[in-house]
Amino acid sequence: MSKAIKTNTTVKALISGELIESKSTTFVDMVSPLTNEVIGQVPCMLQEEIDLAVQKAHEAYLSWRFTPVMTRTRVMLKYQALVKENMDELATILCEESGKTFDDAKGDLVRGYEVIEFACSAPTLLMGETVENVANKVNTYSYKQAIGVCAGVTPFNFPGMIPLWMFPLSIVAGNAFVLKPSEMVPNTAIRLAQLLFEAGAPKDILQIVHGQKEQVDMLLDHDLVRSYSFVGSPAVGGYIYSRATANLKRAQALVGAKNHMVIMPDADKQSVLNALVGASMGAAGQRCMAISVALFVGKSKEWIPELVDKLSKVKPGGWKEGGADYGPVITRRALNRIEDLVQEGVDEGAKLVLDGRGATVEGYPNGNWMGPTVFRDVKVDMAIYKAEIFGPVLSILEPESLTEALDIINNNMFGNGTSIFTSSGASATKFRREVSVGQVGINIPIPVPLPFFSFTGWKGSFYGDLHAYGKQAMTFYTETKTVTEKWFEDEESEGIAFNFKADHSK
Ligand code: NAD
Repeated sequence: MSKAIKTNTTVKALISGELIESKSTTFVDMVSPLTNEVIGQVPCMLQEEIDLAVQKAHEAYLSWRFTPVMTRTRVMLKYQALVKENMDELATILCEESGKTFDDAKGDLVRGYEVIEFACSAPTLLMGETVENVANKVNTYSYKQAIGVCAGVTPFNFPGMIPLWMFPLSIVAGNAFVLKPSEMVPNTAIRLAQLLFEAGAPKDILQIVHGQKEQVDMLLDHDLVRSYSFVGSPAVGGYIYSRATANLKRAQALVGAKNHMVIMPDADKQSVLNALVGASMGAAGQRCMAISVALFVGKSKEWIPELVDKLSKVKPGGWKEGGADYGPVITRRALNRIEDLVQEGVDEGAKLVLDGRGATVEGYPNGNWMGPTVFRDVKVDMAIYKAEIFGPVLSILEPESLTEALDIINNNMFGNGTSIFTSSGASATKFRREVSVGQVGINIPIPVPLPFFSFTGWKGSFYGDLHAYGKQAMTFYTETKTVTEKWFEDEESEGIAFNFKADHSK
């Protein structure tokens, strides 16, 4: 955090639909990962500014929750059209702040856009249950009602998709939302919010605030905030989940990962190699569903040299020039951490068969470049295996059997995603049944579910019980109200009852 001088690149907050300049004197520098130049200053907003955002959101919720569900849904219908129409502009903003390639930026937005499409089925998603005549002339039915102000805190690696995992579903359910995007990539979220207002959402229903821990704490301790959705690193997720639940609030935290791909000797070799290249190096490995460990079972290890050869041709680069396979690592600090972990791998005895340290890209001498990196002979007690590296680094292990591969995966603390490549239905079935990971791909390397399912990370990759998007998110963003009713006909009375009269006589 710095006490930077305010410049005309100060990032604005979005309060009541208006871009406003924070009165804070504390800022975090936004730094381009391509050049390491400061491209903006993100304010660490003041308590009164955060309070105002929450208060306004709460007031908006009080009427929005009673706005007919079809009206709320129509806002989302228009919103999805606007996001699609403005995809190139959004992708450009996203590239500028994150360094992602243009195609990857579009992919990021498309995965978020699909959640808006799902939000358009709100009337069905909000249906309750009903049973007539649960006792004599008594009916019981339930509603899913909005809970109030929901808060979201999002990471740097999907500036479009992850905010869109959260606020469209919360808002279409009748809530208001306060979002604190990553201070490294706040501009995509701001533009996405502006488009929601263009689509007709009430001006206070979504507020964008900025800052770091202190501002997150202000949200965590605010009486009017009812739920917290977090996506980010395990340490921060653990902190937010604990503090939110200690404050008796609802919380979900999607955190780190170490995703393994199992390669059986009966798999289709070319499919394996192509899948592994994209899944391990895409977005410079800065994806929570990236494959960071390849488990080559038995004779499939003979394909490793060909894989390494393919990976050696993968090139990072700038998004404007086109042709790059992935962009830079987000910060110099993150790059240094990745390089240190690679050195630790070497020192611990893993075999570095492709070393991406010191990569350069023409035209960007100060970019955070890391080339594709591959280790063989990795052991499960090494730092490169245990840590979430979050870079273009693939660790290879060579188990003798599927059972041994399953043991490795099931003993890992994380459980976000995993994948098996095989032509055997029996192997695929054993893997699917026995693996302790929440999202499983069979001949699919990155099995991210579409939004009508939920994003179901397990073990150390998720804290909470209701997952992001899908029907589970609708449950997370609503409270069930169960009504039991009886209507008396004229002159009908049953006298005084001192206990519940259920009829168990038959
Ligand atoms: P991060 O935890 O550093 O930051 C995430 C958010 O938390 C940011 O908005 C940041 O401002 C805020 N924050 C940072 N420190 C805080 C603190 N001490 N108290 C309160 N808030 C704080 O994460 P990141 O580096 O932006 O993102 C990378 C991480 O996100 C990786 O671990 C990755 O696996 C994870 N991730 C997980 C998923 C998933 O679905 N499981 C998806 C994407 C990213």
